[in-house]
Amino acid sequence: MEYQVAADALHGKVILVTGAGDGIGRQAALSYAQHGATVILLGRTVKKLESVYDEIEAAGYPQPAIIPLDMLGATRQHYLDMVDTIEQQFGRLDGVLHNAGLLGVLSPFDQIEEKAYDDVMQVNVKATFLMTQAIMPLIQKSEDGRVVFTSSTVGHSGRAFWGTYAMSKFATEGMMQVLADELSNTTVKVNAINPGGTRTKMRASAFPAEDANNLKKPLDIMPLYLYLMAPEGKDINGQCIDAQPK
Ligand code: NAP
Repeated sequence: MEYQVAADALHGKVILVTGAGDGIGRQAALSYAQHGATVILLGRTVKKLESVYDEIEAAGYPQPAIIPLDMLGATRQHYLDMVDTIEQQFGRLDGVLHNAGLLGVLSPFDQIEEKAYDDVMQVNVKATFLMTQAIMPLIQKSEDGRVVFTSSTVGHSGRAFWGTYAMSKFATEGMMQVLADELSNTTVKVNAINPGGTRTKMRASAFPAEDANNLKKPLDIMPLYLYLMAPEGKDINGQCIDAQPK
């Protein structure tokens, strides 16, 4: 399927992107802003967020905002405070791209350490869950609310040595399906994207020996990211879609 949206598809919308400082999240923030959205850049490394901010401003897109937040340590209260800030500053929130993620350590199952397990589950699942709970009241006020999670090929088909990361992505897809089903009679659409192998730091740490030149760049997979966030995606709910179908 061709995913195409109007050039101004996200005009007037406020969209939160987690992990917006690098990799796919960085590009998604830029692409959403290019299509008219006011983008809220959330991440843990302020310098990286500032560089995306500057790029958006220099391009003349709507002025973004930065929320520095380490999802490893953040509590429910952090997310509730964040929502208050968003409501005060923008008065609305139309969509969220849950993109921040930790790969953790790839290892045999019997060698998964509890701390490494906890960290990956905290960032990829629990923090994403707490943030979603906190922002849903605002998203549900939007006429076109969107929640987009990020899964992986190992989020619906387990693979040796992918341990906690794979388990966390199964949980992510479960969270997406539960929420999508609950909201199926509303205008809020809840889906997940499997980016497929994409040229980022995370991919390089998972596959250090591969030639990254053979991989798609984050920009190449943006049509799906835009489609699911835009009014054009209003008929899709409860799906995990491959950005690079075979
Ligand atoms: P990436 O380049 O490593 O970017 C991940 C982003 O998440 C970074 O901006 C990172 O911030 C942020 N992040 C990590 N831990 C965080 C925390 N505790 N608090 C706040 N932000 C945090 O990875 P990517 O490849 O773009 O991955 C994006 C998403 O796609 C992830 O959910 C990943 O699982 C998924 N995915 C990627 C691929 C692929 O081939 N690239 C394939 C399948 C799925 P810092 O920059 O500050 O570290």
